[in-house]
Amino acid sequence: MIRVYDFKCSECSYIEEKYVRSDSRESVCSKCNKLSQRQLAAPMSKLDPLSGDFAGATIKWSKQRQKQLQAERSKS
Ligand SMILES: [Zn+2]
Repeated sequence: MIRVYDFKCSECSYIEEKYVRSDSRESVCSKCNKLSQRQLAAPMSKLDPLSGDFAGATIKWSKQRQKQLQAERSKS
């Protein structure tokens, strides 16, 4: 499976996103060509509404929005 991960260079601390196999933990820094280590958090999870804290936030938001809509409807 190919996913996007953050890689941080152990030499110059440059962070970049790379498409790699989900089991690859190391890559090569595009700035200095040294080894860069995969970071734990995958940036894709921020965009995926079904994963992590974001899902909770989305559900909270939509519940609040429903309440708002109901309140607006009952006014008119
Ligand atoms: Zn580097």
